[in-house]
Amino acid sequence: METFPWWSEDQKKLAKEIKAFTEEVLPRDVEARWKREFPWDIFKKVAEKGYTGVAVPKEYGGMGLGATGACIVVEAMCRMPGSGRTQVGNMIGGLRQIIEFGSEEQKKRFLPRIAKGELGAVVITEPVAGTDAAAIEMTAKRNGDAYILNGKKRFIVAAGVANRYFVYARTSNNPDDVAKYRHLSAFVVERGAPGFSVEKINEIIGFENIQNGVLDFDDVSVPLADRIGEEGDGWKIMTAGLNFERTLICAMTLGWQTELLKNAVPYAQRRVQFSKPTIDIPANQAKIADLIIRLRLSRIATYYTAYLWDLGWDITLESNSTKVFCAESAQKSSLEAIQVMGGDGVTPFYTPQAFMQVAKVEHIAGGTMEACRQVIFKSGLRIMAEDLTMPRRVIHKDLGVPVPAAGPVEKQSNISEEKVLALLAEDYRINPGLYMSRGDLSEHFTDSAALDNVLIALEEKSLAKVYRTKKGIELAKATYEGLKKAHPKEYYRWFPEWVDGDRKF
Ligand SMILES: Cc1cc2nc3c(=O)[nH]c(=O)nc-3n(C[C@H](O)[C@H](O)[C@H](O)COP(=O)(O)OP(=O)(O)OC[C@H]3O[C@@H](n4cnc5c(N)ncnc54)[C@H](O)[C@@H]3O)c2cc1C
Repeated sequence: METFPWWSEDQKKLAKEIKAFTEEVLPRDVEARWKREFPWDIFKKVAEKGYTGVAVPKEYGGMGLGATGACIVVEAMCRMPGSGRTQVGNMIGGLRQIIEFGSEEQKKRFLPRIAKGELGAVVITEPVAGTDAAAIEMTAKRNGDAYILNGKKRFIVAAGVANRYFVYARTSNNPDDVAKYRHLSAFVVERGAPGFSVEKINEIIGFENIQNGVLDFDDVSVPLADRIGEEGDGWKIMTAGLNFERTLICAMTLGWQTELLKNAVPYAQRRVQFSKPTIDIPANQAKIADLIIRLRLSRIATYYTAYLWDLGWDITLESNSTKVFCAESAQKSSLEAIQVMGGDGVTPFYTPQAFMQVAKVEHIAGGTMEACRQVIFKSGLRIMAEDLTMPRRVIHKDLGVPVPAAGPVEKQSNISEEKVLALLAEDYRINPGLYMSRGDLSEHFTDSAALDNVLIALEEKSLAKVYRTKKGIELAKATYEGLKKAHPKEYYRWFPEWVDGDRKF
């Protein structure tokens, strides 16, 4: 595995070791998939090596190699789709959530168990709550020093085989709590808790030997001590956990994308058609080049995201953007690797078809591509707000066309209808199809407190049109009447130089 210059010596050493370890257990992983056996024996070895504790801090029995270390292990292990997913399951079932939101007592109790290889599961999705995870219906009612959980969960990876279930349930129906996303809480439920059972195991593409299923919680009593964070913290904990999960999913796709190249390139070097190896065919070379591009960019983005996480940064934007890029890259690359390999690519005797399946699953699991894009849109606009301001433009005095304005806007005092209308009219010359935002207008005045009243007055006189949201007036624009009132027709006229004489009617 290629290392990155910012990795610590321990992380570089880990990359070398885990690569060798994966080579060793790979044959058994393939056998387990054919036999549809859960890869317990491999997972046990992973735990013995300490890799299950890669991201657990040293003081709680782990290797302390952070999200970067976690991605290194997942990337290497995801040459093996089933075993790799088990390792991810171990880490998404509470690790990050407990490190960030657990009490000291909970960290001491749960983290060493994760480090030793206790398998976990993350339990969010319900029959009626998928992308709309805030609509969770499972209830958790306080009863003395415990909560009583009732409801069903579905699509849960490691259902039945995990020992520790990180469950989100509804602790309030108060509309105010719901509006503030304070209606959910997070709990750890232990396998074997009375009333907790597996209802069904799903058959899912790419999950030949990994259980995924429906869970039933029938009056399951969970001690108060196993609630993570405060009551009402569930949504906050879930989103932080999902950012970590999405980063690990990216690392999974790195393993798959590497394996696709490992299949397609040597195959094409050995397959002869038209008296030459198929690797010499430009169409195959272009596909392989695309596989390489996607893998290398996916690796940079994934390990950059993990690095930011290890620095304690908010990685909402990076983890979601990288998940979309990596999952889409893995799918495109799997289709192209199969194409390079022709008919052999669609047989189970080579692995690319398996990676095509798991890649598609990751367009859904851990948050759909659409859900991630929603997060990217919202957090992108917030985080990048400074870069997304409307460039201020003015009309060039000789050219008569809009050009970027130098320096800040010249502020005016004593806001009035005439001054605001003049600004709206001037903006018509600069951005004829656009409204001005409230912010665009108010920055022109030393005191813009009366801006709304002025706009309403202009609107009542049909000189301006305004656009309102729940927050109030957001946008405004001069009407035809307003433009006429602000300036004579000639003021708005402009012709390119080559239009002369008669043609300016
Ligand atoms: C293999 C697998 C493993 C999984 N593992 C787990 C697990 O371990 N734990 C767990 O809790 N969950 C797990 N899930 C559940 C997974 O998180 C959900 O399947 C996912 O969030 C989508 O929910 P849904 O399937 O109900 O689709 P729906 O929410 O019904 O969505 C259907 C389609 O509509 C789109 N859509 C929905 N709402 C919007 C919107 N507002 N804007 C745009 N598009 C929208 C979706 O993107 C999707 O394309 C797993 C799922 C799979 C398939």
